[in-house]
Amino acid sequence: MIIGVPKEIKDHEYRVGLVTSSVRELVSLGHQVLIETQAGAGIGLSDADYQSAGATILSTASEVFTRSELIIKVKEPQSVERAMLREGQILFTYLHLAPDYEQTKELIQSKSICIAYETVKDNKGRLPLLAPMSEVAGRMSVQAAAQTLENSRGGRGLLLSGVPGVEPAKVLILGGGVVGSNAARLAVGMRADVTVLDRNLDTLRALDCEFQGKVKLLYSTDDLIDRLVPDTDVIIGAVLIPGAAAPKLITADHVKAMKHGSCLVDVAIDQGGCFETSHPTTHTHPTFIVDNVVHYCVANMPGAVARTSAFALNNATLPYIIQLAGKGYKQALLDDPGFLAGLNVIHGKVTCREVAEAFNLHY
Ligand code: NAD
Repeated sequence: MIIGVPKEIKDHEYRVGLVTSSVRELVSLGHQVLIETQAGAGIGLSDADYQSAGATILSTASEVFTRSELIIKVKEPQSVERAMLREGQILFTYLHLAPDYEQTKELIQSKSICIAYETVKDNKGRLPLLAPMSEVAGRMSVQAAAQTLENSRGGRGLLLSGVPGVEPAKVLILGGGVVGSNAARLAVGMRADVTVLDRNLDTLRALDCEFQGKVKLLYSTDDLIDRLVPDTDVIIGAVLIPGAAAPKLITADHVKAMKHGSCLVDVAIDQGGCFETSHPTTHTHPTFIVDNVVHYCVANMPGAVARTSAFALNNATLPYIIQLAGKGYKQALLDDPGFLAGLNVIHGKVTCREVAEAFNLHY
């Protein structure tokens, strides 16, 4: 199959749909890979690197779209890219269609076959192509907290680990899923005093096995949150109720009750945030202060570590790309119901229930 990778054009997006190691693997399987010039430049992958991996470099996105049967991207296609999609062409990327009518309409009109990373499921019903970005964001959340606690950022002037003779910072993680467990790993590694709350007892049990007493693991109730918040230095928001807006577990009154210079990291901001006082921020201006509490609410945290994120994403997407390219989309999707769950739009029809419901479309 002819596989094309355009350079990402969304603002500050440096990731790339295929890294060089993935290209080499696809070429060795007999596929042709077309890469737009400079597609990997933002993460240190040059055109020469791609050529050594067996790719052909093309000078424009339009050539990549015209010549490819399968387009691999990272972010949802921007309107200039949507205009280049054609009937029967396969697009495999993050789409996030439910809040985006304009994109949904144009993908329907394109009559292309659009498979979204974020709705592909594994055989346990988990979301394997979202997980790598949650791993990155969970780990980054602790780095962000560590920096935010510094005096120069408005923080309390705390070192997460403390030092011999001075106590560590208290870190409260709301949600012990992919983001929360990765945040806990880093926070424990940095010797903070860590508590994780979740409402899923199986999740708490699994974390108990892993952490062997190094993390306090508690069932999440409003009562407990009321008690813990005033004595906490860092709260990391990592809850998810699939398909729903994040619950506001931390209210404006909680924030008022926190110590001055404490820090909130709302990783769940992409689902509306789990702190009442949150609003989305950017890597250029990541924090703001409410009632002397520093808030970090960056909606695309993995974008700041684009090289790690691109490789992590490719590790998860490559097996699916190999299936798509090797068998063709029909057989690849029919062979794996979880992969089929990724199909959002085909031949002018929406095939994802949540997207259809969001816009009252025939499903
Ligand atoms: P996940 O499903 O793996 O984990 C969510 C956890 O929250 C689950 O264990 C669930 O039981 C728990 N939970 C639900 N309600 C709770 C409550 N009331 N109290 C405590 N725990 C509760 O999800 P995830 O992959 O860890 O993602 C978490 C959030 O981070 C999502 O909103 C995701 O979109 C977001 N995210 C943001 C970024 C970013 O850049 N900002 C990047 C990746 C993921």
